[in-house]
Amino acid sequence: MPVATPPVELIPEPHLLVGEERLREASGGRTAHIYPATGQPTGDVLLAGPAEVDLAARRARKATAVWRAMPPHERRDALLRLADLVLANAEELAALTTIEIGLPRQLADQTPRLAADFLRYNAGWLDKIGGEVVPAWPLRALDYTLDEPYGVVGLIVPWNGVLVAMGQLLGPALAAGNTVVVKPPPLAPFVALRVGELALAAGIPPGVVNVVPGDAAAGEALISHPEVDKVHFTGSAATARRVLAVAAEHLTPVGLELGGKSPHLIFADADLRFAARLAMTGAVALSGQGCANGTRVLVEASVYDDVVATLTARLRRIPVGDPLDPKTMMGPVVSEAACQRILDTVARARDTGAGKLVLGGERLGGDLAGGFFIGPTVFVDADPTSELAQEEIFGPVLTVAPFRAEDEAIELADSTRYGLGAYVHTNDLRRAHRVSHALRSGSVWVNGAPGVLPSAPFGGVKQSGSGRIGGISGVREFLRPKNVWISL
Ligand code: NAD
Repeated sequence: MPVATPPVELIPEPHLLVGEERLREASGGRTAHIYPATGQPTGDVLLAGPAEVDLAARRARKATAVWRAMPPHERRDALLRLADLVLANAEELAALTTIEIGLPRQLADQTPRLAADFLRYNAGWLDKIGGEVVPAWPLRALDYTLDEPYGVVGLIVPWNGVLVAMGQLLGPALAAGNTVVVKPPPLAPFVALRVGELALAAGIPPGVVNVVPGDAAAGEALISHPEVDKVHFTGSAATARRVLAVAAEHLTPVGLELGGKSPHLIFADADLRFAARLAMTGAVALSGQGCANGTRVLVEASVYDDVVATLTARLRRIPVGDPLDPKTMMGPVVSEAACQRILDTVARARDTGAGKLVLGGERLGGDLAGGFFIGPTVFVDADPTSELAQEEIFGPVLTVAPFRAEDEAIELADSTRYGLGAYVHTNDLRRAHRVSHALRSGSVWVNGAPGVLPSAPFGGVKQSGSGRIGGISGVREFLRPKNVWISL
């Protein structure tokens, strides 16, 4: 069956959202958006240049006074209304997500609920932000802190899951009392613009949420803008280096949520079928393009062959194809460039003997030939020091390698420059705690993974970043304490 055409009539007219104004012209020019499942253009994207970023940052600054003057319970209710509107428009937002990145509808359908949960969770903190009394002994003084917003926050987001990112970041940034300029990338501008409209409809004052899709030039303009008090960057480690270089010039504070090469550690005493099923999602979920996908599977040697057999058998049965087919679990990768990059990595791994390719590794043809489809790909006996096992591929590629002892498993798991998530599979309670404590990773999930929880901190160590979203840590990311000392 040929891949169905998505409902492109949902795509908004090309624009940027600054305050309540929809800008129809922008200095960054225009680019075509391509539907990843067919390779066909869907519509035009208007790109912000430095001039529009300047407008947005100044509009956001003007709105800081309005937003902070609004009583906390009214701001909380506005965020809750935004969550309600996300759910009321779930069908449209899910459809736009599928159009933007080719995410299968059955998965896209789950994203509005998650985004709304993040907004609601953070709305709950809004009227609980205060400060603390600081012991001033032996001075006769009252010393206290006020948790204040930064002011204007720039949110630079990646293309993979903009709706969830909007919930994860808008929620705490607004709850903390900031106004924001969101910069989605040209690959995925539609959902962010729509959420910006919904924020206005929810009664969030104009200028509190501004949305300016753009490329690197817009991102750098945001980081270097004098009215931007903090930037929160979500993206790759490579771009983060450039972000920090620009931030260094202007001393802009930056929170970083970066990539990963998250390991599965499967011990022989685990529920092996379940472990193999979860490990499989490292390639399948978002076609391997999730920051916390477990793409490095480490298996205790005594059960290695068993786990490899179950994993590959299950992956062979995964329905890959048309994102609009309700049975599809795995869609295309995001772009032709991503497709080529992934295939090149696979080719280098084969040429250098970095592992034994036992599944996939090729672009899919037939009805899927026009899109950017790569089937689930598995390399076994992967050399842990190779590019294949060390670098984030951001595609449906798993490496599998054996270990003999717990210490070796931890050493292998920690052997990359990343530290975002780790998945541990064991039925030994002591080992579960021991390994969780030992791993250098922002999150550890034992015997299952709930995805990202609004109430739990999420972020990386090492080159996976320094910021935290989720939980009170997420709100703190967008607050800074002011100290007040009063002589008594
Ligand atoms: P990317 O680094 O290419 O782009 C991220 C964002 O930065 C985009 O908005 C892009 O337009 C912008 N950008 C590009 N150059 C810039 C520059 N010079 N200055 C400022 N901004 C610039 O990443 P991507 O391909 O969009 O996303 C994939 C990456 O994001 C992966 O590495 C993935 O692991 C990571 N990611 C991390 C998390 C997390 O929470 N840790 C979540 C999602 C994605």
